[in-house]
Amino acid sequence: MQTKPKKISLTTQIAIGLVLGVIVGLLLQGAPQFATGYIKPFGTIYLNLIKMIVVPVVILSMIQGIISLKDIRKVGSIGITTVVYFLFTTAFAITIGLAVANLLNVGGGYTLPAGDLVYNAAAAPKFMDTLVGMFPSNFFAPLVNANMLQVIVIAIFFGFGIILAGEKGKPAANFVDSFAEVSFKVMDLIIKASAVGVFALITPVVAENGPKVLLPLLKVILIAYLCYIIHAVVIYSLSVKLFADLSPLRFFRNIGQAILFAFSSASSVGALPFTIEGTEKLGVRKEVGSFVIPLGATVNMDGTAIYQGVCAIFIAQIFGIDLNLTQQITIIVTATLASIGTAGVPGSGMIMLAMVLQSVGLPVEGIALVAGIDRILDMGRTAVNVTGDAACAVCVNA
Ligand code: ASP
Repeated sequence: MQTKPKKISLTTQIAIGLVLGVIVGLLLQGAPQFATGYIKPFGTIYLNLIKMIVVPVVILSMIQGIISLKDIRKVGSIGITTVVYFLFTTAFAITIGLAVANLLNVGGGYTLPAGDLVYNAAAAPKFMDTLVGMFPSNFFAPLVNANMLQVIVIAIFFGFGIILAGEKGKPAANFVDSFAEVSFKVMDLIIKASAVGVFALITPVVAENGPKVLLPLLKVILIAYLCYIIHAVVIYSLSVKLFADLSPLRFFRNIGQAILFAFSSASSVGALPFTIEGTEKLGVRKEVGSFVIPLGATVNMDGTAIYQGVCAIFIAQIFGIDLNLTQQITIIVTATLASIGTAGVPGSGMIMLAMVLQSVGLPVEGIALVAGIDRILDMGRTAVNVTGDAACAVCVNA
């Protein structure tokens, strides 16, 4: 009798890609230029494809989410609950990051390596500039440049426009529906290549960084991951239990694939389809999921906020700078804003760290110290970011 070959699930495929990537990366430590020259480009292709599809997926699914709510007041109430949830959990996240990093003395015992501390930070944006910058003066530019905050503003306005246009808006709504479906199918195709993409992204990271570079910074990594876990277990478990009467175990089981994908790809937006699918399995209505999750993947970054808190303390301590309470509160505020401005793609949280450091006068060059391990920190923070989006969708749905 012939047995049908068992299909390997995407989760298993990604996990295999991840493990293989680490093994091959370790083997290639002697020849990292091979990993960066010949393996990394496939990871870049994979990320390029994700970036290509992200704008249509976010704009269309958000407009779809808004019009499926049918009533502007309903959008308003869901929107406000969502934003309040996002802001509170993010502020908690940084507080946990700051508290644990202070408590465990994250930068203690390190001496500052002299000389090679050079990091050319992109100029960190000021708050008022960020606010003005959210509103586009051109319809196409944000789509072309993938300026996600502006894309969301466009989606909100056009979603409202379609609702207000009533009967006449129907063809536009159908158009959005149809193209949203098409974009999701394209995304599905790209996602099918995830195992290869993840493999190609991980291998050069391990080959280049190796355990040697990791050791001195192990404490930062351990503390950041400890905070990620505390935040996920305490804040998300509590909120899904309290607000949605959902067992945390069931919650984590259903969004496991999204977490694994976020962890291996370090991209919240890339994980979007998995996050939506996971929350749908948990009974989140489509109109809620397709509004909350794309918005969350763009603006809700609790893991990034934790990372920024831990790194700020680390950098302060190794430079021998004491941060007073006011400065720590300033970090909470700026890291909340910085995490909103962080794009859901690999590495963007590190760029926004400059804004946090500058707000309290910490040397931006300190980023050079953590840049080498950024990917490892990024994987964990993205997993937390995505879990936060899913938890919010579940709570708002309740
Ligand atoms: N990679 C993160 C994300 O996609 C953002 C960051 O770099 O913190 O959510």
